[in-house]
Amino acid sequence: MSDKQITVTSPLLPDREEFGQLLKEIWDSKWITNNGQFHKQLEKALCEYLKVPFISLFTNGTLPLLTALQALRITGEVITTPYSFVATTHSIWWNGCKPVFVDIEESTCGIDPDKIEAAITPKTTAIMPVSCYGKPCKMDEIQAIADKYGLKVIHDAAHAFGIEVNGESWLNKGDMASLSFHATKVYNTLEGGALVVHDEQTKKRIDYLKNFGFAGETEVVAPGINSKMDEVRAAYGLLNLKQVDEAIEKRHQVAIQYREALRDVKGVRYFDDMPGVRHNYSYFPIFINAEEYGMTRDELYFKLKEQGILGRRYFYPLISTFSTYRGLPSAAQENLPVATKIANEVICLPMHHELGKEDVERILKIILK
Ligand SMILES: *Cc1c(COP(=O)(O)O)cnc(C)c1O
Repeated sequence: MSDKQITVTSPLLPDREEFGQLLKEIWDSKWITNNGQFHKQLEKALCEYLKVPFISLFTNGTLPLLTALQALRITGEVITTPYSFVATTHSIWWNGCKPVFVDIEESTCGIDPDKIEAAITPKTTAIMPVSCYGKPCKMDEIQAIADKYGLKVIHDAAHAFGIEVNGESWLNKGDMASLSFHATKVYNTLEGGALVVHDEQTKKRIDYLKNFGFAGETEVVAPGINSKMDEVRAAYGLLNLKQVDEAIEKRHQVAIQYREALRDVKGVRYFDDMPGVRHNYSYFPIFINAEEYGMTRDELYFKLKEQGILGRRYFYPLISTFSTYRGLPSAAQENLPVATKIANEVICLPMHHELGKEDVERILKIILK
């Protein structure tokens, strides 16, 4: 194939010279991990950028989920969505809890609040919703149910970096919000993640838990784990934070170009911006109605692939279909009709800061036939 491949994403990389200077500082200081100066600076800078009161950095975006469940002492059953990346459900399983899948709604791809109450049992202790594709899920409705039944809410906000609703950070919703700074996300620190919390006492507890439970040189207050972010990644993260707005704006332009071209295509659905929401354009999912479009999702997916366009079918297959989970009563397909349908319709088109107008045109030409 002569045309270059277009991948679904491309990592945002800091300037190498600038990164080199920060690396020299790290080398000179010989302080390479354990809450060093870049770690402190990045926590502060992220609190400002994200408009959140307290944040704890992690080594990836899965460990903050695990740690949030630990910190809130979640046991028994946790209500969650099958339409996400596997780490959401794995974090529940790794805490010895039972995931209970609730169907999603088509308009946000988030958990359907109208179906939550029917899934609550005396063993339910928490709800773990996901703001899928960075689209705000129905958090206020979810929180109201949680309050009514005394449940905790752990928001998997791995896609929701920088999302604001009516000028307020979306990450302040729920008891805690978890972020991923993986290479495939809008903002990356190579690997990395964070937990957003509301008060200093909770941040302290999270910081103990991510450092073996150490509360001082000789005092261990909890059976913690090691999930600290090191200085090299914190420095890298500081540089990427300076350019993330520009990257989001470039993604925005790509979204505009996709939407304009797809507006009148029968059988292709996509998301428009929501009023009052600052979006991050982390993904551009389209949903194929095979009958109307005249081709199935997979036919289009492989046709794109043949021509070097590597979209991804996020989130197919559903988490509830994987071997660990498919035996759970809540994993039954009849329980998850909307998620099942969406998983069979979705393709995430290439979406990143380096896509040019011609790249997008090349992709669109295939979709428009
Ligand atoms: C990426 C992702 C995670 C896990 O993040 P890692 O940094 O890869 O560990 C968790 N939940 C969702 C929804 C994600 O997309």
